[in-house]
Amino acid sequence: IKKQSPIPIAMYGGRHAVTMLPGGGIGPELMEYVREVFKYAGAPVDFEVIDIDPRSEESDAFDYAITSIKRNGVGIKGNIETKSESAAITSRNVALRNELDLFVNILHCKSFPGVPARQKDIDIVIIRQNTEGEYAMLEHESVDGVVESMKIVTESNSDRVARYAFEFAKRTGRKKITTIHKANIMKLSDGLFLETSKKIAKEYPEIEHNDMIIDNCCMQLVSKPHQFDVMIMTNLYGSIVSNVLCGLIGGAGILSGKNYGDHYAIFEPGTRNTGTAIAGKNIANPLAMLNASVDMLNHLGHKEHADLIMNAMLKTVSEDHLLTPDLGGSASSTEIVQKIIDHILQADIRPW
Ligand code: ADP
Ligand code: MG
Repeated sequence: IKKQSPIPIAMYGGRHAVTMLPGGGIGPELMEYVREVFKYAGAPVDFEVIDIDPRSEESDAFDYAITSIKRNGVGIKGNIETKSESAAITSRNVALRNELDLFVNILHCKSFPGVPARQKDIDIVIIRQNTEGEYAMLEHESVDGVVESMKIVTESNSDRVARYAFEFAKRTGRKKITTIHKANIMKLSDGLFLETSKKIAKEYPEIEHNDMIIDNCCMQLVSKPHQFDVMIMTNLYGSIVSNVLCGLIGGAGILSGKNYGDHYAIFEPGTRNTGTAIAGKNIANPLAMLNASVDMLNHLGHKEHADLIMNAMLKTVSEDHLLTPDLGGSASSTEIVQKIIDHILQADIRPW
C-alpha cells in the first residue's frame, strides 16, 4: 500500500498552470465565470483549456487532457457528456479518473448560508471510492439476452479510501466515520470493503466507527441527517448519496467535489451534471463551479484568494439574496457573477 504523498504542482514565474476541461452543457459558461472572477480576484492561475468533443471517437483531446493534468498536477472540469449509446464509447469522465488514479472523491455537504433548503445546518463529508466498484466499465453480453456487469472491489483500494478517511477525520477534527455498504447481499465485494474499513478503524481508536446498509442510509439521510459526520462508500453508492445530500441542502447548483489521487487533483461541481437543458440560457447557478475553483485555490495554497472569492459568494447569497431559479430566485447567472465581482472589488483585504 502506497503512502499518501504530496501532489506536485506546476508553477511558472509565480503563477500556477491548471488544466481546464469545460466539458459540455453549462460547463463552458461556468468556466467563463471562473475566469472572470479569477481576473478580478487576482488569482495567480493560468488555465490550459482543453475541449473534448463527446461525439468524437478519436481520443486526441482526451490524451492531451491526461498529459496536461499530469504536467500541471491540478485540473478543474465540467462534465463531459457521453453522447454515444454504443458500449464501445465509455464515459470520458470515468476514464479520466481511472487513468489518473484519482481513487478518492470528497464531497463536503455543508449548508450554504442563505440558500433555502430542506434541512438546516448539515455538515457531512462523503468520501467515495472513485475508480472501481460499479464503475469498472466491465460489461458484456455473455449470451443473447444475458448481460454481465462486473463490480470490482479490491483490498488495496478499499484500504486506501478507508485510510484516507481516517487520516482526514484526524486532520480535521471529525469524530465519527460510517461505512455505507450492502454487505448483507453483496457478501464478498461489499464485505471486503466493510471488513477493510473495520480493520483500519482499529488503528484510530479515537475516531468512532460504525456501518450502515445503503438503503437504511438513504432513509436516515432524509429523516435524521445530523447523525452523520464522515461517510465512506463504494463508487455507485457515493454517486447516489451525494445527490441525495445535494438535494437536501439546495440542489445541483451549489456544492463542489474534489478528486484526489497520490499525484493529481481535479475539482468539479459536486453532482457532476452536464446541465444540457439549461445551457446558454443564463440561468445556471454559478456557485458549484466557483466553489470548485475555491477548492482549487485552497489546494494550490492560495487561501487569501480562496477566502476573498468565498466571502464575495456568501455576501451575494446571504446578504443580497441573489439566487438563480434552481434555488427559487430570479437572478441570472451573470447578475450573480457581477455581484460577486463587485464584492471582490469592495473587499477591505485584497491579496494582491
Ligand atoms: P446529467 O448530467 O446527469 O444528465 P442533468 O444535466 O440533467 O444531469 O442535471 C440534473 C439536474 O440538475 C437538472 O435539472 C439540471 O438543470 C440541474 N443542474 C445541474 N447543474 C446545475 C446548475 N449549475 N445550476 C442549476 N441547475 C443545475
Ligand atoms: Mg444531462
